[in-house]
Amino acid sequence: VKVVVLAGGLGGSRLALALAETLDPADLTIVGNVGDDVEILGLHVSPDLDTILYTLTGRLDESKGWGRVDETWHALEAAGELGGETWFRLGDRDLGLHLVRTQALRRGESLSSVTARLAHAFGLMPALLPATDERLRTWLDTPAGELPFQEWFVARGQRDEVDAVRFEGADAARPAPGVLEALEAADLIAIAPSNPYVSIGPILAVRGIREAIEGRRVPAVAVSPLIGGRAVRGPADRMLARLAGGTGPQQVTDCYKSLLDALVIDEADADEDADVRLIVTRTLMEDEDDRRRVAEAVLETAGALR
Ligand code: GDP
Ligand code: CA
Repeated sequence: VKVVVLAGGLGGSRLALALAETLDPADLTIVGNVGDDVEILGLHVSPDLDTILYTLTGRLDESKGWGRVDETWHALEAAGELGGETWFRLGDRDLGLHLVRTQALRRGESLSSVTARLAHAFGLMPALLPATDERLRTWLDTPAGELPFQEWFVARGQRDEVDAVRFEGADAARPAPGVLEALEAADLIAIAPSNPYVSIGPILAVRGIREAIEGRRVPAVAVSPLIGGRAVRGPADRMLARLAGGTGPQQVTDCYKSLLDALVIDEADADEDADVRLIVTRTLMEDEDDRRRVAEAVLETAGALR
């Protein structure tokens, strides 16, 4: 079965790894969020694409859930001594990737093309595509004003409540090369347990991607990012409570309206209802057994729905 998975960072990479371990990796296409992309110290950083790349090639620092394992921080320390910005943590090995990517982009290469080269160099087997090659940036409307994504997420530690989310550049953004082809060829469309508003939202804000999923002829299945109504990490639960009025399966489903045929939820949420088919399993993905269980729930759902 050919699968396309829409993915943010942590939850996105966990389901992508689960599917990559369960399927023939050649049958998996990962479409990653670029709304978090940010320029730091002159370098183009794509945090969600990099978390996926590092996770699926054994390079992620699992204790942090971002960045590379065996990392050192000399370059950032030096930048800090010189008055450079250090609020966004970039390790030495991580910086090596950002240098190569930034140089390629400055020469006019597309983000999808340089991402494919980086992925190939790291030995990534599934296809990893940015949602779009065009500039798309997430902004949050908060009581403190409208904030760019990383200022809200990293610099201010998500302390501001979010009243609305906006995707700068979405109107002009076209799906990156290969995204629509992969959706067209897919037997199953999966939405990772990523933050619906700020990880999956920017992908679906690319009109061509949303329309392709709305017009699908194959099942679409999401995995809920909430366990017992709580996010494993990050602000998804607070955002759902404020923007959707609750943290149950129905509120997650409401984020995806006509884009979903089933939702995989955790046993801790099994007594709740939603107006979409619910599949119950344990959805925390910490080891390979966990990942296989969730991948099988996603894949079996597809068979059952067809
Ligand atoms: P980010 O880009 O790194 O912030 O990550 P994502 O948006 O992809 O993922 C964040 C979401 O993943 C959070 O809402 C978590 O609750 C969810 N998440 C992380 N790990 C797991 C997991 O193992 N299982 C489930 N169900 N959700 C998870
Ligand atoms: Ca992210």
